[in-house]
Amino acid sequence: MAKKTINAAKEKKRVAAIYRLLQETYPEAACTLNFRSPLQLLIMTILAAQCTDARVNIVCTQLFKDFQSVDDFADAAPGALEKAIHACGFFNQKARAIRESCRMLRAEYNSQVPDTMDDLLRLPGVGRKIANAVLGECFGKPAVVVDTHCKRVANRLGFTRHQDPGKIEIDLQQLWQPEHWTMYSQYMVHHGRAYCLARSPKCADCPLFSLCPWPEKDKRAHDAF
Ligand code: SF4
Repeated sequence: MAKKTINAAKEKKRVAAIYRLLQETYPEAACTLNFRSPLQLLIMTILAAQCTDARVNIVCTQLFKDFQSVDDFADAAPGALEKAIHACGFFNQKARAIRESCRMLRAEYNSQVPDTMDDLLRLPGVGRKIANAVLGECFGKPAVVVDTHCKRVANRLGFTRHQDPGKIEIDLQQLWQPEHWTMYSQYMVHHGRAYCLARSPKCADCPLFSLCPWPEKDKRAHDAF
């Protein structure tokens, strides 16, 4: 029992130390989607599935000029929305999700994006990742966003052993302080892009090297020279 308590205390310290290092490494960390309202972020996160944030930002520069309100999206002419978001891929499914979500927002939420997990999950095409992104970024609620970077980096850092996003979210909620959930999620994305790359992680240069338990890190660091 005493050993368990000591291990838990050590792990808590490690998690806090990693957070501080990530803060220092990414002082400007922020959501990489350029949104100006909850509606815009909702739509952008739907478009971001299987697509890069950079491409979503480019597509949405014009999209948000042509479609500005919930009504604009809900009443989009057949094919118009699909054409506008074509470059994001899976445009038929994404257009359907956006159109139907906006129809529900208009019919049941006074054309406002709701600020609770339960309500957000009712919207067609909206899962926990999108809902958490909206809750954390737009409404300042503690939210763990598990995307592909978070999944990989959290596993390598020993924060979870799961691959299922729902289980990872629960592990991270238990490990991270609630006031850090949103930023820690963003740091996972930034670190996954800057150092902890999927195929060729830059372990030799990684600021988290001494705190990372990934068994392959020494080999990856050695291979870099
Ligand atoms: S040491 Fe390597 S595996 Fe660990 S966090 Fe850094 S880049 Fe990722």
